[in-house]
Amino acid sequence: MPILVAIAFLTCHALALALFPDHAKLLSYLFLIAAPLLAALACAWRSRGDPVAHGWIALALGMLLWTAGMASNMVMAMVLANANPTPGLSMLCYVLYGVPLTYALATSPREAWPVRLIDALLALAVGYLFFVHTFSFATLSNASDEGVERLRLMFDIENVFIAAFAVVRWLAAGGEHRVFFRTLAIFALLYLATAAYINHTQSDVDYGTLADLVIDLPFLTLAAMALRPAAARADAPEAPRRLSLVVRAGSPLMMPLTLLVVSGLILHTHAALATAGFAVALLGYGVRSVLTQVRTLEEQDQLSELTRIDPLTGIANRRQFDETLKRDWAPAARGERGMALLLIDVDHFKQLNDRFGHPAGDACLREVAEVLKECAVRSTDLVARYGGEEFAVILPYTSQHGAERLAETIRAAIERRPLPVAVAEGTSPPASLTVSIGVGYVAELVGRRPEALMGVADGALYEAKRGGRNRVCVRVL
Ligand code: GH3
Ligand code: MG
Ligand code: MG
Repeated sequence: MPILVAIAFLTCHALALALFPDHAKLLSYLFLIAAPLLAALACAWRSRGDPVAHGWIALALGMLLWTAGMASNMVMAMVLANANPTPGLSMLCYVLYGVPLTYALATSPREAWPVRLIDALLALAVGYLFFVHTFSFATLSNASDEGVERLRLMFDIENVFIAAFAVVRWLAAGGEHRVFFRTLAIFALLYLATAAYINHTQSDVDYGTLADLVIDLPFLTLAAMALRPAAARADAPEAPRRLSLVVRAGSPLMMPLTLLVVSGLILHTHAALATAGFAVALLGYGVRSVLTQVRTLEEQDQLSELTRIDPLTGIANRRQFDETLKRDWAPAARGERGMALLLIDVDHFKQLNDRFGHPAGDACLREVAEVLKECAVRSTDLVARYGGEEFAVILPYTSQHGAERLAETIRAAIERRPLPVAVAEGTSPPASLTVSIGVGYVAELVGRRPEALMGVADGALYEAKRGGRNRVCVRVL
């Protein structure tokens, strides 16, 4: 359907030129204003609820700027009877149209707002330099031949930049981002070809000829792609992982690089401003890199934290337990105070699992972890899930008596807790959840190893099980 609308648009444009040759110029202007406006509306419509909303809005903004350029062209030519087909104001709009597009290419909604703010500020700086560059060769209503040549070079550089960035991002993106960047890349390539054709082969021809239909093409294509219903869009394949990481890592470079190139363009005419442009580009790149680096480090931190947490109960896992026991050993030995290790094993847990199901078993394990956290409250204590239905508590700087008392508190607290399982009507409720606890204790740590403490705690646990379960046994190293 959108493609049919595009074809109908082109046919109407061609027919209007053929049927009303006396008004060809005015009619062509109207079609050339309508085409980018249609693209702007289509992009704005597409931005609603789209995951790449910011990108579609930036595209819509770019299209509106282009529309404004063509509208000012029309006003100059038709209303003010200005013979020059390339007034400065239009030129400025045509070049500014690329600024929101470059912003959409450089930034990502994944980035934090300060990063996007830097991108937006750099985009504004680029826009300002374009403005200065344009009006160093043109007035609002005019542009010299030499000026037009210089401005064409600026258009070419901008168009090549946008098309190249868009293709790279298309190839490196996945999912909805891939759809967006593919649309942008196809549009940018068509626009590049059209601009090259118009600027370099049609320079003397004014508006109002069939060549104008070529200008419609990129905008109509963009509108058609933006309006495609979701059902008609094939699932975009995922991008190669490495390429997408490289592009993500390189993204801090995009806006500063654009600013650098545009600053280079005005170096001859505005040396001081160009230098300021270089400095801002460098600064922007630096700050942006620092911000993304901080985020990466934070993510790394969170990930390493996750590898040390048991996902079911939220307490430390075996890895953190091993690390902590090793880490605490030396300072505890220097402090000349004892260390205790509690090994806690749920009694008859297999039966509980078999009778009430695995999810109920999981709920019981969470309950045990909860009790352990409530009982072992000193900042130096560590509560961990050792594996399966076994837990461990490290108690540095503790007396044997203190460790025994804590173990007994834990055992009694778990026995008192109501079982977190639903009991079917008519069946007898299970006896309470109980645990057996082995307490290993060492008073003199110097010359001994953590494995030896584990050994005695394990022995004490075995003794508690053999002695009838739901009890605390102690062994001293
Ligand atoms: P004992 O009193 O001698 O300790 O008997 P037990 O049944 O508790 O001991 P056993 O080692 O035979 O059974 C442990 C059970 O724990 C078997 C296993 O299915 C269960 N288990 C291990 N990890 C999990 C888990 O993450 N969730 C659940 N629901 N069950 C688990
Ligand atoms: Mg066990
Ligand atoms: Mg058990």
